[in-house]
Amino acid sequence: MLQRIDTIESKDFLISYDVVYNCLSRNFYIPLGASSSLPKDSNNKVIAVEPSELVGIAKRWQDGEVVDVIVETPDTKTLRIKLPATEGFIPGQYYNVRIPVEGRPRPIQRAYSVGSSPHPEAGIIDIGIKEMEGGLVSPILVRKISPGDHLQIRGPVGKFIWDETFGGPVVLVAAGSGVVPLMSMIRYAVSKNLQIPMRLLFSSTDASHVIYGSELDDLEQKNPWLKIIHTFTRDPFDSRAQFHRRIDLAMVREVTQGLENPLAYICGPPEMVENVEQYLMEIGLEDSQIFSEKYD
Ligand SMILES: Cc1cc2nc3c(=O)[nH]c(=O)nc-3n(C[C@H](O)[C@H](O)[C@H](O)COP(=O)(O)OP(=O)(O)OC[C@H]3O[C@@H](n4cnc5c(N)ncnc54)[C@H](O)[C@@H]3O)c2cc1C
Repeated sequence: MLQRIDTIESKDFLISYDVVYNCLSRNFYIPLGASSSLPKDSNNKVIAVEPSELVGIAKRWQDGEVVDVIVETPDTKTLRIKLPATEGFIPGQYYNVRIPVEGRPRPIQRAYSVGSSPHPEAGIIDIGIKEMEGGLVSPILVRKISPGDHLQIRGPVGKFIWDETFGGPVVLVAAGSGVVPLMSMIRYAVSKNLQIPMRLLFSSTDASHVIYGSELDDLEQKNPWLKIIHTFTRDPFDSRAQFHRRIDLAMVREVTQGLENPLAYICGPPEMVENVEQYLMEIGLEDSQIFSEKYD
């Protein structure tokens, strides 16, 4: 039986609980935010929680309810999913989604980053899905899912993370749907009014394919610490983009100018991620300053 549970310390972005369970003292580490859903006594102390409620949510398949579907671009949609339980998540993490696919004996699983901020609400998450032509899972998620549908979902997962404990300034580099986890970082920084300088270099084919385009414009106007730099690879004339080519060394050098010891977060297709890692090192960043997520 569970005998006692105390909040013993708050470290970085985690709250640690010391649990005496079957006479053994064990530490459980819970992402900040998750504690709000745990039962509390009148002194606001967490009480009588089975350890299974503290750990393991991220390891179980859950039945998430799709509460909204948002069209982002001609080939990308956001699915807003209500989770039955959550341990919270850190901006940059992803969930696994599995769905039945015709002709396949078992459900097929794919990873999708969270685009929403865990603050103030981590129990409803947005995942952003770009339809891959000929793909098994993404066309079903983009075309066939409606509000009220349920999806098998498991997470959060991943070490591609950022929050205020990491500091800044921060350079975010994305291509296509690689912007999804970076958007979670931006929305989180806005939601907590962190004012940590952030620059997003975002590569899209053209203006119609810019995911979260109008929200990014709006956030940039309202937040002087945020700068959005677009590059369009298939529209050489649109003046909404500062660049009109694939991301290269000169572009990365220009975008990072004036930033002292930045942290860099890169997300997108593997080739793009590897190239940008190399450019960043060529302009003097250390390996420890660079974080990457490859969508392979
Ligand atoms: C950590 C992580 C996070 C991710 N987050 C996101 C996200 O936020 N948003 C997002 O959109 N994606 C994300 N992805 C990518 C996502 O997980 C899927 O890989 C993507 O949606 C494609 O899945 P699919 O089943 O539709 O395509 P798949 O069936 O995996 O096919 C992928 C491509 O390969 C081609 N292909 C398949 N089989 C063959 C074959 N035999 N020969 C030749 N070509 C073939 C298909 O035509 C298709 O173009 C993420 C990936 C990772 C690893």
